[in-house]
Amino acid sequence: MRLDELKTGQKARIDKILGHGAFRKRMIEMGFVRGHIVMVLLHAPLKDPIKYSIMGYEISLRRSEAHLVEVEPLEDSLKIDTESICLDTSHHVRSNEKFKGDINVALVGNPNCGKTSLFNITSGAREHVGNYSGVTVDAKQGKFEYGGYRFNIVDLPGTYSLASYSPEELYVRKYLRNETPDVIINVVVASNLERNLYLTTELIDMDRSMVIALNMFDELEKSGDKLDYKLLGKMIGVPMIPTISKTGEGIHELFDTIIDVYEGNDRDVRHIHVNLGSEIEEGVTEIKDAIKQTSDISPIFSPRYMAIKLLEGDREIEEVIGKSKNAEEIITIRNKERNRIENLRKEDITSAIADEKYGFIAGALAETLVKGDRDPNNATHVIDTFVTNKLFGFPIFLLIMFAIFWATFELGQYPMDWIESLVGWTARFVETTMPDGALKDLIAEGIIGGVGAVIVFLPNILILYFCISFMEDSGYMARAAFIMDKLMHRIGLHGKSFIPLVMGFGCNVPAIMSARAIESKSSRIITVLINPFMSCSARLPVYVLLVGTFFERHAAWVFLGLYILGIIVAMFTAKLLRKFTFKEDVTPFVMELPPYRIPTLRSSLRHMWWKGEQYLKKMGGVILVAGIIVWALNYFPNHDNAGNETAETAISVSDDSEINPATDSFLEMAGKFVNPVMEPLGFHWRASVAALAGVPAKEIVVSTLGVLYTGEETANEASLSKRLTSINPSTGMPDFSAAAALGFMVFILLYCPCIATITAIVKETGKWQYGAFSILYNTLIAWIFAFIVYQVASFIL
Ligand code: GDP
Ligand code: MG
Repeated sequence: MRLDELKTGQKARIDKILGHGAFRKRMIEMGFVRGHIVMVLLHAPLKDPIKYSIMGYEISLRRSEAHLVEVEPLEDSLKIDTESICLDTSHHVRSNEKFKGDINVALVGNPNCGKTSLFNITSGAREHVGNYSGVTVDAKQGKFEYGGYRFNIVDLPGTYSLASYSPEELYVRKYLRNETPDVIINVVVASNLERNLYLTTELIDMDRSMVIALNMFDELEKSGDKLDYKLLGKMIGVPMIPTISKTGEGIHELFDTIIDVYEGNDRDVRHIHVNLGSEIEEGVTEIKDAIKQTSDISPIFSPRYMAIKLLEGDREIEEVIGKSKNAEEIITIRNKERNRIENLRKEDITSAIADEKYGFIAGALAETLVKGDRDPNNATHVIDTFVTNKLFGFPIFLLIMFAIFWATFELGQYPMDWIESLVGWTARFVETTMPDGALKDLIAEGIIGGVGAVIVFLPNILILYFCISFMEDSGYMARAAFIMDKLMHRIGLHGKSFIPLVMGFGCNVPAIMSARAIESKSSRIITVLINPFMSCSARLPVYVLLVGTFFERHAAWVFLGLYILGIIVAMFTAKLLRKFTFKEDVTPFVMELPPYRIPTLRSSLRHMWWKGEQYLKKMGGVILVAGIIVWALNYFPNHDNAGNETAETAISVSDDSEINPATDSFLEMAGKFVNPVMEPLGFHWRASVAALAGVPAKEIVVSTLGVLYTGEETANEASLSKRLTSINPSTGMPDFSAAAALGFMVFILLYCPCIATITAIVKETGKWQYGAFSILYNTLIAWIFAFIVYQVASFIL
């Protein structure tokens, strides 16, 4: 029977994995090995993918992939009782000693095991933590001092093994080879040792100094499992220390042990061989001896590791061996041994080795772990039956998005009003206390007008970030990817691409970087290119301002509509790109669905605060500078001291057919130059200027409007939204109508990405042409959609 034929709730024993090498390898790493029990948890709303439970993990597979797994259905399995154990929390912090040197440590472990949390807590860094795999995409460095040593700690991407298959695995292996950290911290999930220790066996083969952080020990305790970790550590020759990296518990003990290992004082440390059974061991020994006798092979790893990997047909090791003069001889031995083992075992060599390793782990755990009877993931199952349900899955997703936009707008309104009155008060203060002149205008209009216009949106942005961070940290994001996979598949993408897209609602730059976790190159490039259509938080002020001015009663709906328009354009673009440029390359949808974890309020708030800090920094930097430049360009060349009256007449004169260039500001000239192109979208010159100014950073759109609409002295006191709707004396109408506001928002939503995003696109795709494509294509699309929206809206409204 095949795995895809099982019904929900049914269990089966795995028999065999079919399909090509890379797929089989990935499946084996995830625990799909002969003899293991798999259970069907549920089907995604569109019947595909399917969620399975294996080795205590939840993994989703597409139906077509599940079809490649042969299984034997089972009746119910048995359960074992236990009592629970306690974490020894007695800290023994070392006293401050003299500086003893540097220790380089690297964090290695499965995705989502808490490496980055540990990294952040030790080094005080602020790296991105999220409850799904593929959050960390490159090595992050940190430094701190402890126990007389300076620690250089590196956070690496998560990997399931050290085969040279996925980009992460290659990356981590290359790092371990080239940088040779003094001590490896292997982070494992204490409540899911079976699969996590698979990577540990590979590290043991490498024969490197190592300690194990038995992380998420709180979850192990909650499950009622009892683990004799001291004994387990002795058995595998690697000290194990319980940690809870979310709170920092056990971190002192961990680093005390690292120091002991580094100094050679830990009695548990010894090099063991993960016994692969006599048939395979024989082959490994043959190859190992041949490698050892050849002097011209660069010893990039331990001979045993190289021998095992060579036996598995690892390409990188084959290359290294290939450079030797004895290459042919060694490869002949390898082929002979591989054939012998495969004939004996009646399975391919990779499966045979994995079998033995999992066997070794099972043996070690049999002596040290007593399973509890509590299912720690019960809550997860209950939540998932709703959240990934056929009927409720999509509505719940939309409801959540709606709730986020509602909170962003409605809850954000209150603090926004406070900040607004503060800004207004400051402006009035400057107006009344400072002597008239260019300096006063600069401060009141350029600085307070520009920065003030943007700063009022800080609460909205904080709320949005809080919500996104909550979605990521709780594990809901992985579910969203799960229910979206089928739809994403229709546009030639992978469910995993959905996560960078949702993250794009925060900021496109990290979202584009997180697309690195997508294995298939073409899917990755498409995901990167469509990401700017995800409306980032910098565009939010434009919506809050204009929606608040023109559509206050239906605010959340207009918001949702804009975001959905972005998504639709993104999907359409993806389909287009798939059709004309990138051939489809199918990657397996093997994705973990981590258990839900309630994010600590502290971590969500902290995340939010960091974002707020970044926003404020931007405010003091690029937005301030842009505000001043925009102000100056609007003020000069010929702002005479008669003040604003002249500015107004300038408008009325220049709007006459007879343009008088002497009264136009630089900005007006530029605005009017591009305006013919923009007029069909309902733009007037100030809107065009704002859009143009927003290219470096989208926040500048609103700050520019803030500077441009400070023309009348009296209006300065009113909020920006009132100033926008006041009558323009030259035209006798307000500059913005509801339809024009819609057109403007759509244009801002879709047009040319900001400079940071373009840079990220070029960097991640490796080609400047993709950056150029984004600028041209997005602007064109923006124009078309804004045109349609404006024309239709003017007709209706
Ligand atoms: P990484 O992918 O290995 O870098 O893992 P992260 O540091 O991003 O953490 C993954 C998830 O596990 C996040 O939701 C963390 O809040 C959570 N987490 C990390 N450490 C612990 C822990 O010790 N206990 C519990 N319960 N959750 C943790
Ligand atoms: Mg990480």
